[in-house]
Amino acid sequence: MSVVQQPDSSEARVAASAVTLRGVGKTYPSSKGRVDALDGIDLEIARGEFVEVRGPSGAGKSTLLALIGGLAKPTRGEVVVLGQPLDRLSASQRATFRREHVGFVFQLFHLLPYLNVCDNVLLAAARRTAEAKERAETLLRDLGLADRMTHRPGQLSAGERQRVALARALFHDPELLLADEPTGNLDAENAAVVMEHLERFQQAGGTVILVTHDDRAARAGRRVIRLVGGRLEPSDRNVASPE
Ligand code: ADP
Repeated sequence: MSVVQQPDSSEARVAASAVTLRGVGKTYPSSKGRVDALDGIDLEIARGEFVEVRGPSGAGKSTLLALIGGLAKPTRGEVVVLGQPLDRLSASQRATFRREHVGFVFQLFHLLPYLNVCDNVLLAAARRTAEAKERAETLLRDLGLADRMTHRPGQLSAGERQRVALARALFHDPELLLADEPTGNLDAENAAVVMEHLERFQQAGGTVILVTHDDRAARAGRRVIRLVGGRLEPSDRNVASPE
């Protein structure tokens, strides 16, 4: 009879974890010497969670997303995302990690103005194959942009531009979606559409981390964490509860 070995509880926890930060700090040089954008961050986010990061301007929210997405390295501490120790990877290893696992959406869309909608989504593709084009078109159709494929970003509304950015973020079927104020430039109706797509991504099993200024109560099922002056507000909600 074969004996199936159960992983011990710490291994099981790491496997279920999308993000683990331990003692993370990020210091930037500044005219006054240095600024601690993040200081002593301990955070656990489980796979499949939808987490809102709130806090005043300058609190470190964008820096936190940059570290979790591998765009920047911490000055100190451990950053483990989807099992990868990002603090120990080189810039090119982190770029590969991002391409394979992470989708980013930003407040200002970051679309290239001289490329049409479909080509902006194809920026995410390593090569422009027929398959890649089909994938881009399918995503754009799913996002309600079937009749906008050949438009340039300047010919689109803000809401449409953000949906193009979402299609680009989803191109590689990421496990983790990082959204930095994605509704900050949108009216209520378009903001609701973008939020619906983030929720759909979570319902399909993805993990979402959303930076928002919105101070309304979080929707059911979402965890809110607050950053102030580079530190997480003490709260037992900063650690995901075991399933
Ligand atoms: P938030 O997203 O909450 O507004 P940020 O993460 O952008 O906060 O910034 C946190 C702090 O770090 C701020 O004081 C900001 O000025 C500083 N900061 C962010 N990025 C840099 C950088 N590249 N160089 C120097 N200081 C930075």
